[in-house]
Amino acid sequence: MTMHASAPPARPADGVCGAELHDLAARLYPICRSITGDGVRQTLAVLSEHLPIAVREVPTGTQLFDWTVPQEWRVRSARLRDPGGQIVVDFADNNLHLMSYSAPFRGRMSRQALSAHIHTLPDQPDLIPYRTSYYNRDWGLCMAHSRFSALPEGEYDVEIDTDFVDGSLTYGEYVHPGTSDREFLLSAHICHPSLANDNCSGLAVLTMMAAMLKGRRTRYGYRFLFAPGTLGALAWLAANEERAQRIDHGLIVSCVGDAGRPTYKRSRQGSAEIDRIMAHLVKRRGGSILDFSPYGYDERQYCSPGFNLPVGLIQRSAFGTFPEYHTSADNLAFIRPECLAQSLDLLCEAIEIAETNWTPLSLNPKGEPQLGRRGLYAAIGGRHSTGASAMGLLWVMNLADGRHSLLDMAERADMPYADIAAAAALLRDHGLLSDASAGHQVAE
Ligand code: ZN
Repeated sequence: MTMHASAPPARPADGVCGAELHDLAARLYPICRSITGDGVRQTLAVLSEHLPIAVREVPTGTQLFDWTVPQEWRVRSARLRDPGGQIVVDFADNNLHLMSYSAPFRGRMSRQALSAHIHTLPDQPDLIPYRTSYYNRDWGLCMAHSRFSALPEGEYDVEIDTDFVDGSLTYGEYVHPGTSDREFLLSAHICHPSLANDNCSGLAVLTMMAAMLKGRRTRYGYRFLFAPGTLGALAWLAANEERAQRIDHGLIVSCVGDAGRPTYKRSRQGSAEIDRIMAHLVKRRGGSILDFSPYGYDERQYCSPGFNLPVGLIQRSAFGTFPEYHTSADNLAFIRPECLAQSLDLLCEAIEIAETNWTPLSLNPKGEPQLGRRGLYAAIGGRHSTGASAMGLLWVMNLADGRHSLLDMAERADMPYADIAAAAALLRDHGLLSDASAGHQVAE
């Protein structure tokens, strides 16, 4: 079987699919997720309505390279009452009010003493910040700065009912098997509470993408991970050191629902095929390409030197650059159905290229072949009924020296991959090309 023989995955129909993606994100949004705990399990249960996700539990204390699975965090409630007994902050209203991994605490204290444990954003006074304290045990509450500033002096009552227990770290894994043993990894973090773009968007897009792949024949196996940031990726890598070597392409997917243009951060390798695929697609959408840096999401683990896997990061607005990032303004209004759909479409195109890229070799390399005689030039200046353009046909024949893949050609011609692929398919059907990649393709 040759590289171009597999059917590419279906492309989503924009409108319908955008609403579905947003609905799924909206169901995930209220759940209080953290790096461990029931929020992750509840989220996986919702995703499991679409996919048979394997839920992995890694016990507290398990060594993950240089890290250790922490105790599981449980939350029942968190409230702050003012001197008059009125509730001013309630975890039940918005889970961002409680610092993630906050220690339990009960007590009364002055406004001054309280202020050391209250997190606000003076520059964005109406927003609640998202704060965590995973590795430094402390208690804390988060609230709008304007609200805190307005609080009178007096005795405040704090009641944070949380605890830490020996339990496990939870992550979800779903594999769409391919006809080869090579893999494409797609991963989204599952550890943020009510933050729509920086969590729910990636989970929704990857879940729908996995659901769309069901029943399709693909060359690559597609491994979907829904895992808490850092520790989840480390847990998967620690359990799959051998298997990780099968990953030919990988993408971390996060912040894919806002109205910004796409941003792709290259893998540490820098020019892996996934880097070139994404650069091609993102550039054609007017987005930006960033070089690798060891700061960001789980590409940090997959691209650590002991693995150095070809795993990049796809976002729309880059994390940390939009004012809504890690605040209560990263809500369901901030992510848009059409933007979620466009992100899914981008990923589907990436898969299509990974699945169908091949290297043509011209069977008529001396002088241009006479396209008109074969009926291939009929639509010069326009498009052939197969979708191939005249320029696409000329570029493919010219670059078909057995050293240029379709992706190389698309880059060199500055044309969409789909146009080049359509031209190559037509030329092959007319006996003008053979497949130079047939001998050294992915083992099957
Ligand atoms: Zn984040």
